[in-house]
Amino acid sequence: MSDDEYHRRTAITRLAVSPSDEKLLRDTIKQWKQGCQIAVDKAWERCHSKSDIQQLAYDDVREATSLSSQHAILACHQAAENIKSCISRRQNGKKASKPTYTSPTITYDSRTMTLFPEKEEVTLTTHGDHSRTRVSLVLPDEETGYQYQYFDSDEWESTESTLHYRDGGWYLHIGFRKLTQDAEEETTENGTVLGVDLGVNEIAVTSTARFFSAGELSHKRREFKRVRGNLEDRGTRNAHRALQAVSGRENEYVKHILHRVANGIVEEALRYDCDGIVFEELDGIRERLPKADWHSEWAFHRLYEYVEYKAEAEGVFVDTTNPKNTSIRCAECGSIHRKNRSTRERFECQNCGNRNHADYNAAKNVADVYLRREQQSSRRRGVSQYALKSGTVTPNRGYTPYPDGFEAESADKPHSPRANPPG
Ligand SMILES: [Zn+2]
Repeated sequence: MSDDEYHRRTAITRLAVSPSDEKLLRDTIKQWKQGCQIAVDKAWERCHSKSDIQQLAYDDVREATSLSSQHAILACHQAAENIKSCISRRQNGKKASKPTYTSPTITYDSRTMTLFPEKEEVTLTTHGDHSRTRVSLVLPDEETGYQYQYFDSDEWESTESTLHYRDGGWYLHIGFRKLTQDAEEETTENGTVLGVDLGVNEIAVTSTARFFSAGELSHKRREFKRVRGNLEDRGTRNAHRALQAVSGRENEYVKHILHRVANGIVEEALRYDCDGIVFEELDGIRERLPKADWHSEWAFHRLYEYVEYKAEAEGVFVDTTNPKNTSIRCAECGSIHRKNRSTRERFECQNCGNRNHADYNAAKNVADVYLRREQQSSRRRGVSQYALKSGTVTPNRGYTPYPDGFEAESADKPHSPRANPPG
């Protein structure tokens, strides 16, 4: 049965892992990465189908690693998928070098993982003596957790899944699938938006984890302020003229930076094939960001205008959504709590333990809130998901990695505190 006959969704859940299991899982991942690498090294520039690679590399993987037989097979299949995506990148004129396995992640299927939703547990095959270990799922309340609709469903079955270690925690991305019967259900509305959060330390952060730092701008503004202060103290007519010139230069400088940020945001939308860009509503933004010295409402409105006309020239729409709770809501599990936002930059969910840059978390929420509202709106834009660096998220349904997302996966978080958008 071909892949097209299934709908696929991913439900993410954190795992509660004991220290002894932690070591076991880490070692299993280490073996897995080695197994995938062996398979890729053998097959690269030679073959790319799952069965060919399995035939070519299976024995080597089994001999060189302590992976179970099924995981050795899956490692060969993983290599096949990654080589295929390299081939298709090359066919699209992009560069693709031989994959290397560095991300702390491992694939599971129905033979290596069993889900016990009623107990909120999962068993995972480990390396070595090929036994299994039993781990608890850390799930949000039934009200906020989108995961339950898959667990409680007769239509959805769990399928290939991935275990990830990131930010000090273990996460299981559980793949679900169901047979496609109502094909039209999803073909009409599969557009993508980019979420953008506006802020103090970062002028803007996108849901694809691009950060536009305010550092340079704030620094320059302080310099301008100092120069203006000196001129004001003098109070002469010449000084007054000079003061006006400085203010003019300052405005030009701010506009220049805002253009750069706007270009970067639109670029990001195009890179991830987005149909729209979503900001929080600008009304009242000054009250929401009281710490902002440079953030006159003017600057944000100007940024919005720049993005709007640059995006519309590219056929990308720009819209806004209500910013209520976007800064304190967990983009992963939906839990809303003041304590989630421990500092201006840090977000840590009290419910599921998700840790992230607060502005990045907010950017995802801006998109999420917009899409939920969109579903009830009469003037629909046909969008149903938002872009991350590593895949897309559909509210209530979860995460779908990009087809060749294996290399972006581990980078789905702020990778650099400063962004350098090209001019
Ligand atoms: Zn959470």
